[in-house]
Amino acid sequence: MTNEDAKVIPVRVALRCRPLVPKEINEGCQSCLTFVPNEPQVIVGTEKAFTYDYVFDPTSEQEEVFSTAISPLLNGIFKGYHATVLAYGQTGSGKTYSMGGTYTSAQENDPSVGVIPRVIRRIFEEKEKRADSEFCLTVSYLEIYNEDILDLLSSSKDKPAISIREDPKEGIKIVGLTERQVVSAPEMVGCLELGNSVRTVGSTAMNAASSRSHAIFTITLEQRRGSDKVDSVVSKLHLVDLAGSERQKKTKAEGDRLKEGISINRGLLCLGNVISALGDESKKNTFVPYRDSKLTRLLQDSLGGNSHTLMIACVSPADSNMEETINTLRYADRARKIKNKPIVNVDPRAAEMNRLKQQ
Ligand code: ADP
Ligand code: MG
Repeated sequence: MTNEDAKVIPVRVALRCRPLVPKEINEGCQSCLTFVPNEPQVIVGTEKAFTYDYVFDPTSEQEEVFSTAISPLLNGIFKGYHATVLAYGQTGSGKTYSMGGTYTSAQENDPSVGVIPRVIRRIFEEKEKRADSEFCLTVSYLEIYNEDILDLLSSSKDKPAISIREDPKEGIKIVGLTERQVVSAPEMVGCLELGNSVRTVGSTAMNAASSRSHAIFTITLEQRRGSDKVDSVVSKLHLVDLAGSERQKKTKAEGDRLKEGISINRGLLCLGNVISALGDESKKNTFVPYRDSKLTRLLQDSLGGNSHTLMIACVSPADSNMEETINTLRYADRARKIKNKPIVNVDPRAAEMNRLKQQ
């Protein structure tokens, strides 16, 4: 398949509204969202309506989110397409819950398990079904905090500096990042657990770090098919828990005050700029500012590029959060206007070998 054959598809958006949490109930909050039965539509207050590809109301379980919105992306992975799932929304709206970013093995068979552990289970089930193919699976898990990339799978004390390079053939490369090869689902889940625990420790040490950082769990699937195994595809799946989208409030902490004022999350700000540059028809040929932040550089292929992309926009139903909820609904609405062009990612080495063989 060549670039020209590729179909253009939009970034899909799933809206997910969590239930009211006990704190909101105690404070007497009411729900400000109404869900239209059998339509992927939500109404804020009494008038504003928004339509998405999927809408999950507060009664929706993790399994439903997975089987409806995530599963189709996984079929693509095995055909050689890249895929990305981004969780967006204000702090406390359910991003980490949805993605599975607090997963521990104690949760194993619980229905509350989020996207990442379910993805891992499915990938290994699908792999078992394909006995005629050879697979190589690797994972990495990183966090972007204050524009620094932190390796969540590195065990060494003095971690090497991590940088981003662009390879003309293989795309974006993160130099110095741990890429762990795994052979089983428990081993891959172990990487998730390890990274989650490093995240948690970091966030208690640095106040509020978890709501300011982006976490990216990446699975790379290399698949060799055919008798001589030269028919090879490499696909990447990024599972992203974005930083809280709310406007950062000023803290009273003396030393942090200056930093606070300017620390509106650069990645999220740039992501917004990239989304509006890509989604606005009238700006068709404008420059897309991917290079303005680490987050947008890493996600370059997922937005306006070569990937099946799903945004899970997470919201709280509480009327006290209405302003932030409307911001999220608008942001998600813009993301739906982005068009991507996914292509099958043939392993460049295998493609070269095939070409030579044919000569
Ligand atoms: P975020 O990562 O967006 O800051 P969390 O995922 O930590 O938010 O969710 C905040 C709280 O709401 C947590 O206590 C979480 O367990 C709860 N929660 C979030 N989504 C749901 C849901 N769909 N069903 C039940 N509880 C949820
Ligand atoms: Mg979170």
